[in-house]
Amino acid sequence: MYKVECWIENAVHSLDHLFTYGSSVPIERGIRCYVPFGKSRRMAFVDHSEEYDGTLESLSQKLGYPVKEIQQILDEEPLLNQELYDLALWLKEKTLSTTIACFQVMMTNKKRVKGKVKSVVLEQIIEIADESFSLSVKQAQCLRYVQEHTPISYIELRKKYPSIVKTLLNKGVFIKKAQERLSFLQAEQEVQPLKVLNQEQTKAYQLIQRKEGVHLLYGQTGSGKTEVYLHLAKKAIEEGKQVLILVPEIGLTPQMVNRVSRVFGQDLGMYHSGLNEQERYEQYQLVKQGRLKVIVGTRSAVFLPFQKLGLIVLDEEHDSSYKQDVQPSYHCRDVAVERAGFHHCPLVLGSATPSLESYAKALKGVYQMVSLKTRFGQDMAKVHVVDMSQEIRQGKDYILSDELKQRLTEVLRKKEQAILLLNKRGYSRLLRCKSCQEVLTCPHCDLALSYHADCQKMKCHSCGYEMKVLRRCPHCGSEHGFSGYGFGTQRLCEEVQKEFPKSRILRMDFDNTQRKNAHRKILESFGNHKADILVGTQMVAKGLDFPNVTLVGVLNADDGLQRSDYRSGEHTFDLLMQAAGRSGRGEKKGTVIFQVYNPTHFAIRFAIEQDYESFFKQEMVYRHLAKYPPYTSFVSFTFEGRKEEKVREIAENFQQEIAKICFSLGVAALLKKQDLYRYRIVVKEKYLENLLKKIRVFLEVTTVELQGMKIDVNPLYLE
Ligand code: ADP
Ligand code: ZN
Ligand code: ZN
Repeated sequence: MYKVECWIENAVHSLDHLFTYGSSVPIERGIRCYVPFGKSRRMAFVDHSEEYDGTLESLSQKLGYPVKEIQQILDEEPLLNQELYDLALWLKEKTLSTTIACFQVMMTNKKRVKGKVKSVVLEQIIEIADESFSLSVKQAQCLRYVQEHTPISYIELRKKYPSIVKTLLNKGVFIKKAQERLSFLQAEQEVQPLKVLNQEQTKAYQLIQRKEGVHLLYGQTGSGKTEVYLHLAKKAIEEGKQVLILVPEIGLTPQMVNRVSRVFGQDLGMYHSGLNEQERYEQYQLVKQGRLKVIVGTRSAVFLPFQKLGLIVLDEEHDSSYKQDVQPSYHCRDVAVERAGFHHCPLVLGSATPSLESYAKALKGVYQMVSLKTRFGQDMAKVHVVDMSQEIRQGKDYILSDELKQRLTEVLRKKEQAILLLNKRGYSRLLRCKSCQEVLTCPHCDLALSYHADCQKMKCHSCGYEMKVLRRCPHCGSEHGFSGYGFGTQRLCEEVQKEFPKSRILRMDFDNTQRKNAHRKILESFGNHKADILVGTQMVAKGLDFPNVTLVGVLNADDGLQRSDYRSGEHTFDLLMQAAGRSGRGEKKGTVIFQVYNPTHFAIRFAIEQDYESFFKQEMVYRHLAKYPPYTSFVSFTFEGRKEEKVREIAENFQQEIAKICFSLGVAALLKKQDLYRYRIVVKEKYLENLLKKIRVFLEVTTVELQGMKIDVNPLYLE
């Protein structure tokens, strides 16, 4: 008999340990099975099994509880290899989640621990059975083609050699086999050579290539970071290794994807949420078999089952989409560091505005600092700032300043292009009753409803609730209507169109990019100069490279500073720097205009001067004084529920208990969201490791009800 130790599927911390079962056969680590648990059965993940010299009864007696037998084994081979298995156990310590949650985040849906195991799609492939037959010229050609393109699908081969395939099958040269369908997503194309690196790039390349460990490649947009990644990747592949290139959002980095695919052709795979389940599964298998050499992917690609990694790149490493805020609340950068360590390969963090954490580590020498100082093409565009409170005092337009209008006129006259960024979608921010002045709010959240002119609806940007515009005010019953306050991208488009009736305007925001490929179509049109002006939310600030854009205008550029969050300065600065980098990327010189209400805030001032280092210094002073990250580490616990009293009580009990073991900032009430009342407790301590250790012990023994609690380790937002 075999004694099997496994992790059980469930969500509570107190049950997150190994359970013992009996089995007549040994079971390998990483295989899933069904086990009896209480009155039902559960999925379990095997940790290990060992031979036991005795019966189930004697084992039960020895352990002091009834040991049951495993009901069913679900996999033929382990789903996770040893590296990923260990990574899951590491991840659970870092994120305070349950073991099973970590296994799940590493697998594609088809192999999730929970729920049904989905079937895989099969296809017919052709294999060579016997090459010794004598063949006609054409038949020999077909055979050679198969030799060169193995494994090849039957359908694909039949398209090329319609009748010959059948003949060769009948002859016994080929045989047909059913295999899991794994199609390459990249079309075959001409592979282009790389550019020759300049001196500075060559130095960066050599510094990184020589050494495993973490490198911060710090250089403004256009300094040639991507070109360095490509050279490093090529080298790694030549050494027979795989490469992972992580990007914040695939849809917003089409140019990066194009460049990589032009260099690596069919060796390239992609992994992101825009793929359907089958496509994701195929990419997963191809990585596992080592058939894809380079993967460009978003956050979750960091868990792909690479055989042998030679390089990891994390582009735009400061981007907040690398952090997952639900359990396991991991940061992709931390996982990348861990994997690069396992594979003894370099990890390159690239950015023009590194996160404070990474830059501080590079200054201390924990990461190697590699900087690129010169820029290809033009110097950075010049930034002009317009103080909107002045404009309004002078009775001028509160949407488009005179200076922005004048520059837009010039751009249109010269047939160049402009990007306008306004980080607010919809038409107006809120609607107020003309009689009682009450603001219309979402019935499910504590938030104002925004007016959307295109569909004549009011929408909640938090939960997605929408309703037709009301005739009567729900507060006072008046039918005198509502006035809109503040403006979003839809209103901006309308204003620009009014001012420049002949201009062609495209909009890109959450509302019109939900369908597959929507991003790509908008960006393609703009790239082909089918429009003069692109208006959009923060998504137009990321990574785009349009040489004909010579003007970028940011409206309400200091809006982000209004958030009460401790990172609001950093995020505002990043956004403005990114936006500024979109202007003047080609031959022509670019201009940038920030319209602000608070031109003296240091995040705005340093963004105008495009001075990351000064921003870093000042922001670090503030973080140090306030004892905020990176000087301390936070863990947040959020409780939510429909009954306000009950949630608050649980949160307060929790606060009392946890405050005994670490420093707590107390209970904070968050805005209601989707009918859920929410309370949050944040604890902090200088060293994360200590904090995590204490909390883990606490979670295992506490009697406070933790059902529905969300834990976020190093949360990026505290709102
Ligand atoms: P970053 O990733 O830092 O924004 P890129 O790698 O995209 O910079 O480089 C900016 C521009 O300069 C691109 O158009 C790129 O093709 C060009 N470029 C980069 N390196 C070289 C080089 N060594 N020789 C010629 N052109 C280069
Ligand atoms: Zn009213
Ligand atoms: Zn809502």
